[in-house]
Amino acid sequence: MSKIAFVGLGNMGGPMAANLVKGGHEVHVFDLSEAALKHAVDAGAVSSPSATVAVEGANVLITMLPAGIHVESVLVSRDALLDKIGKDCLVIDSSTIDADSARNLSKAAADRGIEFLDAPVSGGTAGAAAGTLAFMVGGSDSAFAKALPILECMGKNIFHAGGAGAGQVAKACNNMLLAIHMAGTVEALNMGINNGLDPKVLSEIMLKSSGRNWSLEVYNPVPGVQEGVPASRNYEGGFMTDLMCKDLGLAMDASQASRSPVPMGSAARGLFNLHQAQGNGPLDFSSLLKLYQQR
Ligand code: NAD
Repeated sequence: MSKIAFVGLGNMGGPMAANLVKGGHEVHVFDLSEAALKHAVDAGAVSSPSATVAVEGANVLITMLPAGIHVESVLVSRDALLDKIGKDCLVIDSSTIDADSARNLSKAAADRGIEFLDAPVSGGTAGAAAGTLAFMVGGSDSAFAKALPILECMGKNIFHAGGAGAGQVAKACNNMLLAIHMAGTVEALNMGINNGLDPKVLSEIMLKSSGRNWSLEVYNPVPGVQEGVPASRNYEGGFMTDLMCKDLGLAMDASQASRSPVPMGSAARGLFNLHQAQGNGPLDFSSLLKLYQQR
């Protein structure tokens, strides 16, 4: 059993911390939101009045925060947790942030003799609750080996992508592809509907044809075609358009840094940004269909 400090108990962090409790760990939690904190305590975690108190005596520190600026503030500047934890405390950041920030944090940790992993996830809130997340991990072999039993409490597919920052690069590639195939799926289904097809029938046809893809298979964007997906609950829950726009910004950063052409990713980013600007940021990203339905 490890003593784990967990900071950031939102849509993802809350259920992830709950799964660590289920895995038999002592989990000390902190979040700026009282409601998020209470949720985690109801799941068996120990509430802390601050991030600094949460890390006292911890062997592992996990952060699950919105963006790089928050992780930097918690680890290095405002809370400066890297100056408060022991050298034996492994730091795992599972937030989706830019690869450069992840590399800088890894270096800041190494300067203090501390091991750091970037370990962003895929699988959404459903995967976080079920403990079936995919983890893409960047960092040393030794830190990865130490983290594995902890990550296995929260995920099913755990990959060592490479050195520091590699997890974030893998995540940027994956989410850019997700944005592209969701936009393509929305575009094709909308064209079919406008030409008189039943979206359910068209979805079945494409699922058995060469247009098959993840968005069509498990995340159909047309309301009423599939049960249990955000489209069938007014695009609530799931993966917010705001977060997809953030991730596409990170993908563009990665493309610039490596001079990789990403015309499809750029087009998808333009579409999701437009959709966000029309006030749809809080809706699930499959609500992009609304943009296409404007006449
Ligand atoms: P969220 O906004 O629901 O949760 C973030 C939590 O961090 C909030 O509870 C907030 O109060 C807390 N927080 C912010 N600053 C803090 C600070 N300084 N100290 C303590 N707590 C602080 O976000 P989420 O959906 O849980 O996503 C978290 C990360 O996971 C993001 O980087 C996101 O891109 C990524 N992600 C999300 C999904 C998804 O489906 N929601 C899927 C994969 C990855």
